[in-house]
Amino acid sequence: MEYLDRLESKSVYILREAYSEFKNLCMLWSIGKDSTVLLWLARKAFFGHVPFPLVHIDTNFKIPEMIKHRDRLALDWKLDMIYGQNKEALEKKQTFPDGNTTRINCCKKLKTEALANTLNGNWTRYRINHDTGKYEIDKNNDPFTGVIVGIRADEEGSRSKERYFSPRDKDSNWGVEDQPPEFWNQFNTDFVPGTHIRIHPLLDWTELNIWEYIKRENIPMVSLYFNQGDGKRYRSLGCYPCTKPVESTAKNVDEIIEELKTGKFSNIAERAGRDQDKEDGGGLEELRTGGYM
Ligand code: SF4
Repeated sequence: MEYLDRLESKSVYILREAYSEFKNLCMLWSIGKDSTVLLWLARKAFFGHVPFPLVHIDTNFKIPEMIKHRDRLALDWKLDMIYGQNKEALEKKQTFPDGNTTRINCCKKLKTEALANTLNGNWTRYRINHDTGKYEIDKNNDPFTGVIVGIRADEEGSRSKERYFSPRDKDSNWGVEDQPPEFWNQFNTDFVPGTHIRIHPLLDWTELNIWEYIKRENIPMVSLYFNQGDGKRYRSLGCYPCTKPVESTAKNVDEIIEELKTGKFSNIAERAGRDQDKEDGGGLEELRTGGYM
């Protein structure tokens, strides 16, 4: 098999295993390239219909084009789309862009706390109504205990420590040094009741694999990834006050693939444009052990 077929096949296998083994499953969708590829793989795994909700944590500071792209695909692909957010922190302006806290605390409130409380159903969730195209308060507040996430091991140091099936405690905390082994593609899917599971079907994919697969499958991407004529493009998407574009002339998927193959970014971390990763000396691992994606 060609290498993209092998990656696709393993990811589809993990998605099907997750669906058969875990109840109350959902998939996180950040609207970025990785989780959009994961969504595409889920559509393939289940013959065009994604059988679990897509959950987006909306910090209210995402680049507006990302939200438009989310809602366009949610309607076109008939996705069971849900979003959650930390309304209280936003109303009280306890955020970094409002100048009232650090980036680390802002991420904890708008991402980690919002994620944990959206997943456990403690906070209001908003679900798309396909008849009106609008979001409505979701009456179902059952907790999601299995969460499929599109992280890649090569993307950032703490993500390289993940398992395909990774147990978290009831508060979403991650015991980095106490994880089950996964030898020879034998996956442990048998956990004590109450364990919250994160499933990572994209761990083996690289940034280049992702773009090659986007090209092969013609997957629609937010145009922010492409140079619009100003010599810049986003390599990784996030909140607009904290995410910077990279210098690049790549205007389409082919040119991004060529650019990656030149090694231009080989010594520059993919998330180098994300300012929150740099705070507090390795802030991302700290955030991730507390439940961040
Ligand atoms: S990325 Fe910036 S705006 Fe977004 S939650 Fe983190 S600190 Fe706040």
